[in-house]
Amino acid sequence: MTETASHPYAGTGAHTGSYYAASANPAPLRPVLRGTHEADICVVGAGYSGLSTALHLAEKGYSVTLIEGARIGWGASGRNGGQIVNGLNASLQTIEARYGHDTATFVAGLVNEGGEIIRERIARYNIQCDLREGNVFAALTNRHMAELRERKALWESYGLRNQKMLDKAQMRDHVRSDLYEGGMIDTTGGHMHPLNLALGEADALEANGATIFEMSPVTSVETEGAHPIVRTKDGVIRCKTLVLCGNAYLGDVVPDLEKRVMPVSTQMMATEPLGAERAQALMPSGACIEDVRYILDYYRMSADNRLLFGGGTVYGGADPKDIKAKLWKNLQKVFPELKDTRIDYAWSGNFALSFSRVPQMGRLGANTYFAHGYSGHGVTGSHTFGRILSEAIDGDLSRFDVFANLPWIPFPGGRQLRVPYSVLGSWYYALRDRLGV
Ligand SMILES: Cc1cc2nc3c(=O)[nH]c(=O)nc-3n(C[C@H](O)[C@H](O)[C@H](O)COP(=O)(O)OP(=O)(O)OC[C@H]3O[C@@H](n4cnc5c(N)ncnc54)[C@H](O)[C@@H]3O)c2cc1C
Repeated sequence: MTETASHPYAGTGAHTGSYYAASANPAPLRPVLRGTHEADICVVGAGYSGLSTALHLAEKGYSVTLIEGARIGWGASGRNGGQIVNGLNASLQTIEARYGHDTATFVAGLVNEGGEIIRERIARYNIQCDLREGNVFAALTNRHMAELRERKALWESYGLRNQKMLDKAQMRDHVRSDLYEGGMIDTTGGHMHPLNLALGEADALEANGATIFEMSPVTSVETEGAHPIVRTKDGVIRCKTLVLCGNAYLGDVVPDLEKRVMPVSTQMMATEPLGAERAQALMPSGACIEDVRYILDYYRMSADNRLLFGGGTVYGGADPKDIKAKLWKNLQKVFPELKDTRIDYAWSGNFALSFSRVPQMGRLGANTYFAHGYSGHGVTGSHTFGRILSEAIDGDLSRFDVFANLPWIPFPGGRQLRVPYSVLGSWYYALRDRLGV
């Protein structure tokens, strides 16, 4: 239950041993930051938050420098389930209850935006990342079905009509497993190769004139004063506007941000290629699946017909010793027929959890912006937040201000106790899931 304190870039900074790293499109190694540089806009972190912010700004004609501690997409953005799930992790119901109807209406107006940005990027820059359509939420119990019906009704009350309930038989059009009572499909969701999306966005960024440094961990930032300063071991960038997008991997480089979110790891593994026929038999529609439990399974077929299966969480962000052992039981509950299947890759990655599950953006000092805390569902949210940050930097604060003014809620017990308290909370919800109550 202890939090990991190790520096995220220990070792070479090379990509984790994921299936995605093994099947990544070729990418150049960008230079390390050395010496002193001036920049209009400096973005720290080349995950989707940083890439989206930087690319939106570069497209508007700003001069942008992006600095990454390891490689492009080294963090959650290059390791995730690849599931394009509309919405922020916190439900509209939670947002309505906590922040009121107007905020919920505002959020409902942008829940599909991230998926649209991703598709627009893929099309405009011809990014090869195996995009497929459809994401399905799977229900293991009747209570889960009731939850999904409520969620659909709530989304419809905000004018969002892209979801359809699936009974037990219809669910089998998407996943041939006896585990589920039914589910709900979002026809505007989808999935893709997440690292290749990030790599394609980095290429697009350079095509728009931006500069990228890799293998250059930022060790400190100065956010006071008109010109923020970023320091690495070998270099300094002095800029007009700084954007911090290190998310769960930023660690304690910026203490004001560290206390707002907690790193949490989740794990994935990839089977050997199953062959097109078998893959199609197991998941006929090609949509990706996530179930609706508190600690959920999420999975999909890769373009080369491997089952990519994820699940589990470790509060504090440590890597479990044996990822395969951790996920194997869950995989077999879904697909018992895969019991003799080889696992070729297993990996772990950290996302940033905020206590309310609502992602955060804001400002430190006059000219430093940040976004983080997508709480496990950030593929779409990070793209939307990047656009909203770019609008703010470009002078339109209207959407930025709504998020920046939402009061964030500290973890009970602060840094010392947030891990044990969260573990206790998750036991409670996992127990409810197991008991079906
Ligand atoms: C295993 C896993 C599965 C997931 N599955 C899904 C999914 O299927 N669907 C979904 O919606 N969400 C999923 N998520 C969450 C989603 O991946 C994240 O919310 C999203 O990628 C966050 O993007 P980001 O750019 O904010 O952070 P990251 O992608 O983590 O990027 C942060 C970057 O900042 C860099 N950085 C940090 N500190 C420094 C520093 N000091 N100096 C320089 N660089 C620094 C890091 O190296 C990293 O590259 C998953 C997450 C994980 C870990």
